[in-house]
Amino acid sequence: MSLAELGEFGIIERFAKRLERPIENLVTGIGDDCAVIRPAPGRHTLITSDMMVAGVHFLLDRTEPSDLGHKALCTGLSDIAAMGGRPVCFFLSLALPGGTPVSWLERFFDGLGALATEFGVTLAGGDTVASPVVAVDITVLGQGEPKNLVRRKGARAGDLILVTGYLGASAAGLHIIKNEIGINNLPGRLHEAAALACHAHRRPWPRLREAAVLVRDAPPTSMMDISDGLAGDLRHITGANGVGAEIWAGSLPMIPGLQDLAAELGNSADLWALSGGEDYELLLTLPEPQAEAAMRAVRGANGTPLTVVGRITDSLEVVFLDRQGRQFSPIGGHDHFGGHQ
Ligand code: ADP
Ligand code: MG
Repeated sequence: MSLAELGEFGIIERFAKRLERPIENLVTGIGDDCAVIRPAPGRHTLITSDMMVAGVHFLLDRTEPSDLGHKALCTGLSDIAAMGGRPVCFFLSLALPGGTPVSWLERFFDGLGALATEFGVTLAGGDTVASPVVAVDITVLGQGEPKNLVRRKGARAGDLILVTGYLGASAAGLHIIKNEIGINNLPGRLHEAAALACHAHRRPWPRLREAAVLVRDAPPTSMMDISDGLAGDLRHITGANGVGAEIWAGSLPMIPGLQDLAAELGNSADLWALSGGEDYELLLTLPEPQAEAAMRAVRGANGTPLTVVGRITDSLEVVFLDRQGRQFSPIGGHDHFGGHQ
C-alpha cells in the first residue's frame, strides 16, 4: 500500500498518534487546531527547527528510513542539549510523494519513535502534505531554568575548549556511504573503524544527559553543538565573544583506527575531525579549574569522554596547530595535512 491510498488522515491516525504520550506540560496534543502547552513555572521555553530535504540533506536511495527518522529528531534534541535544556515535545511536518510505500513510513516512525521514547518526548502535532520530494521538518520544544541556559556568548580568553565524544567519524561514514565503499573488504581494524564511522553518521546521539550534568556540576561559559565541523562552528563562539582560539590537532578525540582508515581511503582524519559535519557533539568552553569536574561529570553520565582540544585567546583569530606546534589551515583541501599524517 502507498501513502496515496492511506491518506493524510490515515498517516496521522496510524503513525503520528502512536508517538503521543501523556506528559505534564501538554494539555492538548494531536487532533485539534493547535497543541496547547502549559508553561512550567519559572522556566524558559526553548524552540528549535531543523529541515531535511531529499537530495539536499540526505540521499533517499541510500538512507534507511529508520535512520532518517532518528536523525531528524536528533538534530533538534542536540540543539536543546547545546542550550542546557530539557526537551518536552516536538512537531513533525512531513512532505511525501504519494507513491511512498507505507512500509517506508513505518520504518521512519520506528526510528523516530525509539529516540523519542529514549528521551521521554512526545509528538504534539505537525503537518502532512503531498510533495514531489521527501522533506522532513521537526520543531522541538524544550525548557530550562533561566540560570542554567548556556549560550554561545560567554567564553572568555583563557578558557579551555572541550568537546564531548569523538570528532570526524560522521564525516568518514558519509564518505564511505556516498562513495559506496565496500567496508567488508577492509582489514579487521579498519573494518571496525569504518563500521563505527557509518554508525556515527547514521545514528548520531544527542548529548542531552551530558549537557544536563555539565550545567549542574561544571557550568560551561559557552556551548553549542557541532553540526558543521569544529573549525567552522567554533567561529560562532569566538565571533559572539570578540575572542580568538587555538586548536590543537594532536588532541582531537577520534574513534580508534580513524587515522589509518583515512590513510587507506586517501583522506585526512584531521580534516574529517575539523571540517566534517554532523558529529552532533557538544563544543564548550570552561575556566581551566573546572575542567576536571566537567570531565568526571560527563563520563559519569554516559561513559562519554570530554576532551580538551584548545584554548580561547584574546587574539581575535582562530589558529590551528599541528602535532609539531606548526600553524596550518584546515580549510582548502587535505594537501595542507600532508606533513603530519
Ligand atoms: P489543520 O488543517 O487544522 O492544520 P491538520 O488536518 O493538518 O489540521 O492536522 C490535524 C491534526 O493532526 C493536528 O493536530 C496536527 O497537528 C496533527 N498532524 C498533522 N500532521 C501531523 C504529523 N505529520 N505529525 C504529527 N501530527 C500531525
Ligand atoms: Mg494542517
